[in-house]
Amino acid sequence: MPLDELYKDIILDHYEYPRNKGQIESTTCTCAGGDNPICGDSVDVCLSLDDDHVVAVAFEGRGCAISQASASMMTEAVEGKAVADVQRWYRTVHGLLTNHPDEIDAELDLGDLEALEGVRQYPVRIKCALLAWEALRVALRQALAGGEAAQQHAVVTTE
Ligand code: ZN
Repeated sequence: MPLDELYKDIILDHYEYPRNKGQIESTTCTCAGGDNPICGDSVDVCLSLDDDHVVAVAFEGRGCAISQASASMMTEAVEGKAVADVQRWYRTVHGLLTNHPDEIDAELDLGDLEALEGVRQYPVRIKCALLAWEALRVALRQALAGGEAAQQHAVVTTE
């Protein structure tokens, strides 16, 4: 199977069978939402921290397959991870999508996220893929600042 086809299958699988979609069962979750008006995508990410680990993460959203698949993959990548590792994941995916190899941590096993690399060829789609990750970043920052159940707005940047 050509790599492009394989990537497409992975993205469609996450789109059709999203992981961790819905709400997390925690009274102390922190959420952040983001929109990508160019494509009509919307993603809200909620996470719950225990000490310095993400013990639960979930998303709600609608929009194109890439935006929703990226959100699904993001939750799988960061669930159970230490905050420092989540930040490494964010930088790596951002670097992968925006073609900044210096941001990519070669020690991370990308797994399904490798499928997002193909998105780089379509500049208009990069924001779709980044949306959930920007929401994650804002939610994490808010959680670390001690904000509970606060709704923040993420701005997608492709710098
Ligand atoms: Zn989109």
